[in-house]
Amino acid sequence: MENNTLKKLSNHIYYLPPNSDTDRPVLGIISGKQYSLIIDGGNSSNHAQVLLSQIKTKNLPPILAVFLTHWHWDHSFGLHEMNITTICHTQTKTALKKLLPFSWSDEALDDRVTQGIEIAFCADMIKAEYGSNREIHIRIPEITFHNEMEIDLGDIHCIVEHVGGDHSSDSSIVYIPEDKVLFLGDCLYANMYDGPYHYTIQNILALLAKIEKYDADTYVLSHQMPQSKHEFTQFTTLLKTLCQLTETFKGNKKQISEALSKHTGEPLDELAQECIEYFTNIYKQT
Ligand SMILES: [Zn+2]
Repeated sequence: MENNTLKKLSNHIYYLPPNSDTDRPVLGIISGKQYSLIIDGGNSSNHAQVLLSQIKTKNLPPILAVFLTHWHWDHSFGLHEMNITTICHTQTKTALKKLLPFSWSDEALDDRVTQGIEIAFCADMIKAEYGSNREIHIRIPEITFHNEMEIDLGDIHCIVEHVGGDHSSDSSIVYIPEDKVLFLGDCLYANMYDGPYHYTIQNILALLAKIEKYDADTYVLSHQMPQSKHEFTQFTTLLKTLCQLTETFKGNKKQISEALSKHTGEPLDELAQECIEYFTNIYKQT
């Protein structure tokens, strides 16, 4: 399958493409002269196995660790299968520990959705990925950091920064300066767990300021194919424009939509409509 084959991203980086059928995110592997670092643990043992078997075909330096961009199930449930030293932000570890008592049966998942602890989208995707086999073991990472850290793989460096944001407050990003690649995890996606899917102006502006410090040519958002600087800048420009318009029109969806369409000179595409929805969902409530 196309999604199950490692693709070359740059001189020192391969990635496994995302698969929206069961919400599998991109998994990355960065290799220096001495070591390799995996980005994210995958959403299941099967997903982790695909990555590990693909890595074997590439003759890469030994794996030093897995770096976890945030705690969400689709990035972390494959860690147990990988059984490799795991590095993450302190908040990511705390969030994973909270999952330890949970059962993952249909009944337990549905119950947590009713209680508002889990969201329907994730419950559905867990059911789709696992089928009737719910052998889910949460692995607790061994190494944690607070703000920033650097990992030396042998002439190739991974600069890790905790950036937070609406999607998950523990979100961290990984920058590889030698290849000018930035792994963003899910940090630029909406908040899905706290009321309707939403963006907040303050969090988006703070997040973009942190991201824009890094000079990258390739940007990897976990549930999309990698983007060029040009593609990524189009997205961040849309977000910044919507921060301004949401403020100007006090969250009025119709006025924001008209102003954005006038600003770009084109009808709004699906992404623009979705982003407007996210910015206005929360504004209505405040
Ligand atoms: Zn996520």
